[in-house]
Amino acid sequence: MADTGFNAFKMAQEQFDKVAEKLELDEGTKELLRSPMREYHFNIPIRMDDGRTKVFKGFRIQHNDARGPCKGGIRFHPQETADTVRALSMWMTWKCSVVDIPLGGGKGGVICDPHNLSQREQEAICRGWVRQISKNVGPVEDIPAPDVMTNSQHMLWMLDEFETINGGRYPGFITGKPVGHGGSLGRTEATGYGVVFTLREACKGAEIDISDTTASVQGFGNVSQHAIELYHKYGGTTVCVSCWDQGDKKAHSFYKQNGIDLKELRGITDRFGSINKNRAEELGYTILPGDEWLKQEVDILIPAALENAITGENVNDISKKVKMIAEGANGPTTPEADRILHERGIIVIPDFLANAGGVACSYFEQVQSNTNYYWSKDEVIGKLDTKMTDAYYAVMELSKRNSISLRDAAYMIAISRVAEACQLRGWV
Ligand code: GLU
Repeated sequence: MADTGFNAFKMAQEQFDKVAEKLELDEGTKELLRSPMREYHFNIPIRMDDGRTKVFKGFRIQHNDARGPCKGGIRFHPQETADTVRALSMWMTWKCSVVDIPLGGGKGGVICDPHNLSQREQEAICRGWVRQISKNVGPVEDIPAPDVMTNSQHMLWMLDEFETINGGRYPGFITGKPVGHGGSLGRTEATGYGVVFTLREACKGAEIDISDTTASVQGFGNVSQHAIELYHKYGGTTVCVSCWDQGDKKAHSFYKQNGIDLKELRGITDRFGSINKNRAEELGYTILPGDEWLKQEVDILIPAALENAITGENVNDISKKVKMIAEGANGPTTPEADRILHERGIIVIPDFLANAGGVACSYFEQVQSNTNYYWSKDEVIGKLDTKMTDAYYAVMELSKRNSISLRDAAYMIAISRVAEACQLRGWV
């Protein structure tokens, strides 16, 4: 985000440049892939509930569609910037490629804070966003999805607007729709579950019994909650979770030595996603500062909030006990911190592999929507497990073979597939 001088796009380009050199990509391919192919920036005028008109800034950025239509979420965030959306669109290209689904990368956003908007105003923003971009998105061009602070209701409003403009039913236009309205069973769980599928395999590789491990998690949104859910099903214990407090405008960490109870914490979370501190204290949780999640003596860290969470400044606060980091968020670790983690021998399952379960399931949703035939939840989750596990092993084997980090190996696989598609199409 914009406030600390951190620039996600610079970081994405730095990561790309490092691997492009290793892959010895030619200059033309490098130039094409290190920036988005197309960008749309627009104004969305909204009649607010008090009768005034407010203009919101919207984006859709399409990084690359050589392997298939662009794919990626839409974020609603007050600190959204074009550079953040650029970075996220680029990471979407690598994400779709590393799990080998026939889609490219895109991302969208609106600078707004849904906490301060009524349902009607949010609906108007969704419909306004689609009206500005409808000519440049669609089931075979670019398929949006939910992301930070957007959900299935937002997707259905966007679909309805797109279908109204185009005069037909196009359920394959957008994913993350409500179940029963073109959505896929398992889509809500998919990103968090995907993180834990890769974590499960990484534990096996390191000869760690996942049921003997402890974890600390940043964030208490959709990705975090479902990661915790599956991690607990596998017998793991989460001792700490951090959560944004909308009232205090800062994060707190909730600690319980013998493990947090997911159901209990969900039960005391308000509609803005903030856990009630007083209720948590009554239930035996210790309330710690927001950054304490990172300092816990646990085996596993799961950053599942926003970018720029593990940096050069706080990386040394990570306990010696930590063996693995599974990145549920996009871009949570800066390159400087990543280097230090690699030197310390901590296994980092990189974001665009670890959290690719969301888009993999979006792809399954799109297949179901386009064929108008819906699968059982077991079928969806089973296919997701296979996709994530296969992708993890391909990355892990390359990382072993070349003695490189999982991140560099994942980048090598993802970038070479996209570069090959651009070359075979005759673009470069
Ligand atoms: N927003 C999610 C992500 O960053 C999902 C994208 C999608 O399903 O298209 O991966």
